[in-house]
Amino acid sequence: MIDNHHKNNIYADHSATTPLLPEALEAMLPYLKEDFGNPSSPYGRGVKTHHAVEDARNVIADCIHARQNEIFFTSGGTESDNWALSGVAKTLKDKGKHIIVSSIEHHAVLNTCAALEAEGYEVTFLPVDANGMVTLSDLKRSIREDTVLISIMLANNEIGTIQDIRSLAAIAHDHGVLFHTDAVQAIGHIPVNVKRLGVDLLSASAHKFNGPQGCGFLYMKHGTPIKPFHHGGQQEAGLRAGTENVAGIVGMATAIQYHIRNMRESEKRLKEMAKTFKDIVSDNIPQAIFNGDNRKRLPGHVSMSFPNRDGEALLHLLDLKGICVSTGAACNSRSTEVSHVLRAIGLPVDVAKGTLRVTFGHGNTVHDAETIANKLIALLKKI
Ligand code: PLP
Repeated sequence: MIDNHHKNNIYADHSATTPLLPEALEAMLPYLKEDFGNPSSPYGRGVKTHHAVEDARNVIADCIHARQNEIFFTSGGTESDNWALSGVAKTLKDKGKHIIVSSIEHHAVLNTCAALEAEGYEVTFLPVDANGMVTLSDLKRSIREDTVLISIMLANNEIGTIQDIRSLAAIAHDHGVLFHTDAVQAIGHIPVNVKRLGVDLLSASAHKFNGPQGCGFLYMKHGTPIKPFHHGGQQEAGLRAGTENVAGIVGMATAIQYHIRNMRESEKRLKEMAKTFKDIVSDNIPQAIFNGDNRKRLPGHVSMSFPNRDGEALLHLLDLKGICVSTGAACNSRSTEVSHVLRAIGLPVDVAKGTLRVTFGHGNTVHDAETIANKLIALLKKI
């Protein structure tokens, strides 16, 4: 069990990153110490780590209902997203150079699109409604003869909204277009079944589900046309060169398996924390606006805006009280610009600027939710 209360601090920023699960650390340790062999080496030490990597691949494949040869290890969500988008776009450039993404994607997708645009690709950015949902009709309308890839995230990091990926992917396939989803915020938090979703590619990152930082994977349906992301050795079926991060991969598999086994129970607990928190805040601060879809959302995720307040200042004041939360998106927290996601759901600037994100995770308690809510209310009443 993780203790999220280091020196009386409460960590509630699990969409940014999560603490390493003790079971994952235990599983990793031998590969950071005595079992350091290169998985490509032919002698015993290498064979041992090769088996560890392949066992992890098996576990991860099972957890998302994929086949073992459809899981490719990467350095995390950013690399998986970059690879999925540019790898497919470049492979299919003779078929067409048009890509469709939602306007609320993570920068790992948006900035890859910007790089592709600079190389002559065209990108359509789909709008979202006030809850952050992409509509099926908008997607249908935007597909063209030369569209080669659609990428829409499964769950949004800033507002927690979960998209109807199954229906969106079905539309893509009706038009013969490949579909990628960034599932970085979803894996380990909600059930993810690649067969049921019907996606061709899916990105994941270990540190978002209590695995280690700097490790992730890309699911690619067998036969998906894709170029290697970078060049070098023959690892990962010749598609992703570089000596494997064995300890990271083993830790990632342990963490995902833990979450799949405990999902029902933790979903219930996280929902209870989010509800407790929201109830206390809305009872005391009636101006609070809760962002994202009310029902189709990540279980421990709360995004709220306080009109004419400064989210940045609130974050720092809470930090002084030992509470870690975030403003819009953690990846952006050093930027003072209003987030593209909050703009896309139509929040006016004076509301968006007063946004805080509280994301509960493994190791948090309902008591944490009460403590954070009460400290936040006290601050809002004082300043
Ligand atoms: N995609 C989403 C939705 C994210 O939330 C993040 C991280 O915040 C990423 C991609 C990038 O993942 P990583 O930090 O593993 O590169």
